[in-house]
Amino acid sequence: MSQRQFYYFDNNATTPVAPEVVAAMTPFLTEYWGNPSSAYSFAHEIARHVDEAREKVAALIHADPKEIVFTSCGTESNNSALHSALATTGKRHVLTTAVEHSANINFGEYLEKSGYDVTFLPVNSDGSLDLHLLDKSIRPDTAIVSVMWANNETGVIFSIQEIAAICRRHGVLCHTDAVQTPGKLKIDVKDLGVDFLSLSAHKLHAPKGIGLLYVKRRTKYQPYVIGGHQERGRRGGTENVANIVAFGRAAELAMSRLDEENTRVRALRDRMENAILAAVPHSRRNGAVEPRLPNTSNLSFDFVEAEAVLMLLDQVGICASSGSACTTGSLDPSHVLMAMGLPPMQARGSLRLSLSLYNTDEDVDYLLQHLPPIIKKLRDISPLNPEHPDNAAYDAETARKKHEEDLAGALAEKE
Ligand SMILES: *Cc1c(COP(=O)(O)O)cnc(C)c1O
Repeated sequence: MSQRQFYYFDNNATTPVAPEVVAAMTPFLTEYWGNPSSAYSFAHEIARHVDEAREKVAALIHADPKEIVFTSCGTESNNSALHSALATTGKRHVLTTAVEHSANINFGEYLEKSGYDVTFLPVNSDGSLDLHLLDKSIRPDTAIVSVMWANNETGVIFSIQEIAAICRRHGVLCHTDAVQTPGKLKIDVKDLGVDFLSLSAHKLHAPKGIGLLYVKRRTKYQPYVIGGHQERGRRGGTENVANIVAFGRAAELAMSRLDEENTRVRALRDRMENAILAAVPHSRRNGAVEPRLPNTSNLSFDFVEAEAVLMLLDQVGICASSGSACTTGSLDPSHVLMAMGLPPMQARGSLRLSLSLYNTDEDVDYLLQHLPPIIKKLRDISPLNPEHPDNAAYDAETARKKHEEDLAGALAEKE
């Protein structure tokens, strides 16, 4: 593959692997390739490195190493938490939200087809969750409440601590998909009070194909991948040693870089966002300003299709996305933005820009030089031009009011 210069604004889809992480994992692909479960000293040495990595990822989330189950990805971690809760409680209802990652949305739909009941809670127009509605939606047969900590499309942060407290009052298990949070938020599972928490290493500058599920001590657990006795009997399959070591090193780096992410990266994101909103007429931010991840910006541009914007950005070497990587290729507008009440046209004209510590002022300057003219060009040639009589300007306030009225109606039905 040829090396080429490009500008990467899609860190919520995946992140570049840190050189420190590559250095840490490489010996486990070359010299130390043994199976850590084997009974000779070559293997014991490798098992020791797996243990060390487990301690490092446990430290990242303030857990005990025994509470860590390594999985293949964030998706498997999410699926495993829901599966275990249903299996161990014998209950048949799952409560989650309409803005989760497809790892939860599609697993929830699969559960519904398999005869379980799943509630996908609606959100407010700024992407926030009504905790009163969540409280009212827990039922006697609810096995688990699964709510993501930070949204991968908008960066909007939910109050997991309050949600976990509500779950405890009802005696219901609580899971959070925290995949977007390492290196951006301080993570302390004891403070959060959750029973399960998912992470995925490729969102924190480690390779794809390794994740973890935190399982709180003494929580009943039914494995999802059934096989050997690895992971204290909680996940079959020979350990992905090199990736586990990589995850451990990435966890250390994420902790040490938390401050920079919340100062320099946050300021860079704000500069980028404010400059785009100022330069492009008929543009808007999607989702609450705060609380929000420091690296994420989701903007909508009336009268253009995001797919066309992305194609022209790609031609000048800029990588960005429209919502989630997992729905790219389908022409459906983002389920997250639709759940926030955006009309389909505005949802289709939305762009997600997500930064990391590797982004510089120069990257943002390059984006600011190219994005506004691309949108202007598309609007000039587009049948969605605001001057066209078929395209009345979008009235954000009216759409917001209607969405809030619909939600109030939903809540009133529960009272
Ligand atoms: C990326 C992501 C996932 C999926 O993680 P994989 O390791 O790619 O399976 C789940 N949830 C959120 C919020 C994500 O951003």
